[in-house]
Amino acid sequence: MEDDARTPAERAHPGPATEGSAPVASSPTTTSVAGTNSSGPLPLRHGHEFPFVVAPSSYLRPKPISRTMSDNRASGPLDKEQMQGLRGVREFLKVRTSYDVLPLSFRLVVLDNNLLIKKSLNILIQNGIVSAPLWDSQNSAFAGLLTSTDFINVIQYYCQFPDEIAHIDQFRLSSLRDIERAIGVLPLETVSVHPMRPLYEACRRMLKTRARRIPLVDRDDETGREMVVSVITQYRILKFIAVNNEQYTMLLKKPVRELGLGTYKDLATATMGSSVLDVIHLMVKYNISAVPIIDENNKVLNLFEAVDVIPCIKGGAYDELSATVGEALSRRAEEFGGIYTCNEDDRLDAIFDTIRKSRVHRLIVVDDDNRLKGIISLSDILKYVLLYGEEDDDIRGN
Ligand code: AMP
Repeated sequence: MEDDARTPAERAHPGPATEGSAPVASSPTTTSVAGTNSSGPLPLRHGHEFPFVVAPSSYLRPKPISRTMSDNRASGPLDKEQMQGLRGVREFLKVRTSYDVLPLSFRLVVLDNNLLIKKSLNILIQNGIVSAPLWDSQNSAFAGLLTSTDFINVIQYYCQFPDEIAHIDQFRLSSLRDIERAIGVLPLETVSVHPMRPLYEACRRMLKTRARRIPLVDRDDETGREMVVSVITQYRILKFIAVNNEQYTMLLKKPVRELGLGTYKDLATATMGSSVLDVIHLMVKYNISAVPIIDENNKVLNLFEAVDVIPCIKGGAYDELSATVGEALSRRAEEFGGIYTCNEDDRLDAIFDTIRKSRVHRLIVVDDDNRLKGIISLSDILKYVLLYGEEDDDIRGN
C-alpha cells in the first residue's frame, strides 16, 4: 500500500483557503478561524454569532489510507523503528546545546523588575511578544521570567481582592511574587540553564518543572555577573528537532491513538458565550495553557490560549474580563496563525512535519466531524520523545 506522505495539514487543506476565511495557517492540520481579525466586525454566518471554524480540516481530509492503526498489523518492526527514531532524537539532544537552538540573529527584550506591571503589558504587546526575562538591576541578577501566567495571577488577585483594583496599576514586576503569595499559588521555581549545557538537560528541566520556556543564563567571565542570553521554548526545541532529525522523526510512524499522546479525558472546554474570566479560572484549575472552544455538539470552533489574556487586559481594563470568549478572540492580532488540528490516526512523523513547517503550539484532536476528542500539547510530545521507554518516574509523575 502506498504511504500517504502528506502531513495532516496538507491533507486538511488540499486547495486554497476559503474566501473570507481569516488566518489560514501556513501548514496542514490548520483549522482556519474566522473573525479573528481585529480590524473589523466579525464576519457572521447564518446561525453563528461568533467566530467559528470555516473549513474544518477534517471535512476536507480524505480518510487516511495507510497512516492508520492498520499500519500496525506488523507491530514488531514498527515498534523497533519507533524506538530507533526516539533513540536518534535523544542522542541528538545530548550532543547539541541550548545555544545551538538560537537563530543567528534574534531580539531579546529584558524587563527591569522595577517596571510597572501595566507598562510591561504594553511593552509585550508593542513588541509582539508574550514573555520576557526579568532583570533585578539592584543586584545585577536574573530575576525570573514574565509570562501570561503572571497576568493570570494578577487577574486572580483582582478577583480575590476587588477593593485593591485602585492599587493594581501601581504594582511593579517585583511584586509578582507577593501577588502569588496573596492568592495562594505555589511560586514557580525560577529555572534557567546554561546555554552551553546539553539541550537534553534543558528539556528535562522543562518537563520536571512544567515550564513551557526556559531562559538561558550565562555568567560574564570578567564581572562574574549573570547574563540572560535568550529564552528557548518547547516549540523552538521541537522545531529544532524536526528540522535537523528528519531521518529519525520519519521513523516515528505510530499514530497518536496508539501512543496515547495527549489528553483525552476530563478535558477543560468552554463555549463562545463563556466569559473570559471563567476560562481563566479553568486554566488555573487545570494548570493548562489553552481551552478548546466548542459548540453544543462538541464541535471545535476555536481555542482560547493563555496568551489571549494579554490583549484583554491591555490598558488595565480588568473589568473587561467579563466579556465573552467570542469578543476576546476577535481581538487577536491579524497575523494570528490559526489553530491546528489532527485526528487520532495521524502519526507522530506527520506531526513533526507540521512542526517543521508551521508555528504550532498544540494540536486539537478531532474526529471526522470536527468533534473534540483530545488535545496534544507540545509538552506531551516532548515528554514522549524524551521519556518513552525510559525509567524516569521523577518527571513522569508531574
Ligand atoms: P499545556 O498547558 O498545554 O502545557 O498542557 C499541559 C498538560 O495538560 C498536557 O498533558 C495537555 O495534554 C493537558 N491539557 C492541555 N489543555 C487541556 C485541556 N483544555 N483540558 C485538559 N487537559 C489539557
